[in-house]
Amino acid sequence: MKKHNFNAGPSILPQIAIENTAKAVLDLNGIGLSLLEISHRSKDFQAVIDEAVALFKELLNIPEGYQVLFLGGGASLQFAMIPYNLLSKKAAYLETGVWAKKAVKEAKLFGEVNVVASSADKNFSYIPKNFTVPADADYFHITTNNTIYGTEIRTDFDCKVPLIADMSSDILSRPMDVSKYAMIYGGAQKNLGPAGVTFVIVREDILGKVERAIPTMLDYRTHIKEGSMFNTPPCLPIFTVKETLKWIKSLGGLKVIEKMNIEKAELLYNAIDNSKMFVGTAEKDSRSLMNICFVMKEEYKDKEEAFMEFAKNRGMVGIKGHRSVGGFRASTYNALPKESVEALVACMRDFEKENA
Ligand SMILES: *Cc1c(COP(=O)(O)O)cnc(C)c1O
Repeated sequence: MKKHNFNAGPSILPQIAIENTAKAVLDLNGIGLSLLEISHRSKDFQAVIDEAVALFKELLNIPEGYQVLFLGGGASLQFAMIPYNLLSKKAAYLETGVWAKKAVKEAKLFGEVNVVASSADKNFSYIPKNFTVPADADYFHITTNNTIYGTEIRTDFDCKVPLIADMSSDILSRPMDVSKYAMIYGGAQKNLGPAGVTFVIVREDILGKVERAIPTMLDYRTHIKEGSMFNTPPCLPIFTVKETLKWIKSLGGLKVIEKMNIEKAELLYNAIDNSKMFVGTAEKDSRSLMNICFVMKEEYKDKEEAFMEFAKNRGMVGIKGHRSVGGFRASTYNALPKESVEALVACMRDFEKENA
């Protein structure tokens, strides 16, 4: 049976990226060796990482003055590396979910943290709108896509202090203005590649301002200086990221990707909004294009398990909602084909016919 992969992360990747990775694992570019058994300092791997960086810069139109890094440790290590490198006195954070809270927790180890607004009062079902970022903050940290709750900030806004964004789950989902940000980072395993590599896009001029000593491995300047090769980088995940970037380019870039993402999301949100049984959990003006969260209305709550089973029998994978929201979550990342959303919509409609 055809599987429709709605996993939240690690999650669906372009088939071509998976196939080309499999080939490179057997034999990289016909050199008679596996990608897994060559030096990261070989010219064959250097070409891989160079191409990944170049494609990143090209697709996102990254201006001069920024560096693209591929590191280990996940987005979670960035929660600590950011304040380690950038927080002198005070930093501002927008609290839009559990990942944002984890970032706040680490920052508190390094200085004063001003949480400018939070949507915790309604289980993070919306993006707060009215907040003021203190002008003396060293930076302002946001989470653009809240993977668990299905809310997203989709505009690149002006900020008086350096703006830092965790884009783990919506990087490369739309064209964006990188110049509005001082730093963008995320784990690759949502929309970009396999688990194991973290991307960091950083404007160099924000670095080197804190007075504390920074361990070599946690200092962004180390990785900039060494081209992400201070130590052995995650070679295989970087290869797959490169293949995903090539796939995005082959489709026509981020404008095309965004259009596809909007189409998919509208299809599913319309089905939810027109349903007797299902209801969305995120406020409409905060809805994510990447993670679409919905539950059964009160009168049908007892049917959630039955729907999970029904959907599973139709090949739907990974639609169980995160435990802190419940219900269902369909992750509609770049690589998810529209047919999978159509299949899910049909599944919801048919279940409703039988049960509502
Ligand atoms: C998954 C996720 C993380 C955590 O990423 P790791 O790479 O597992 O550390 C952080 N932020 C967001 C928004 C996420 O979706």
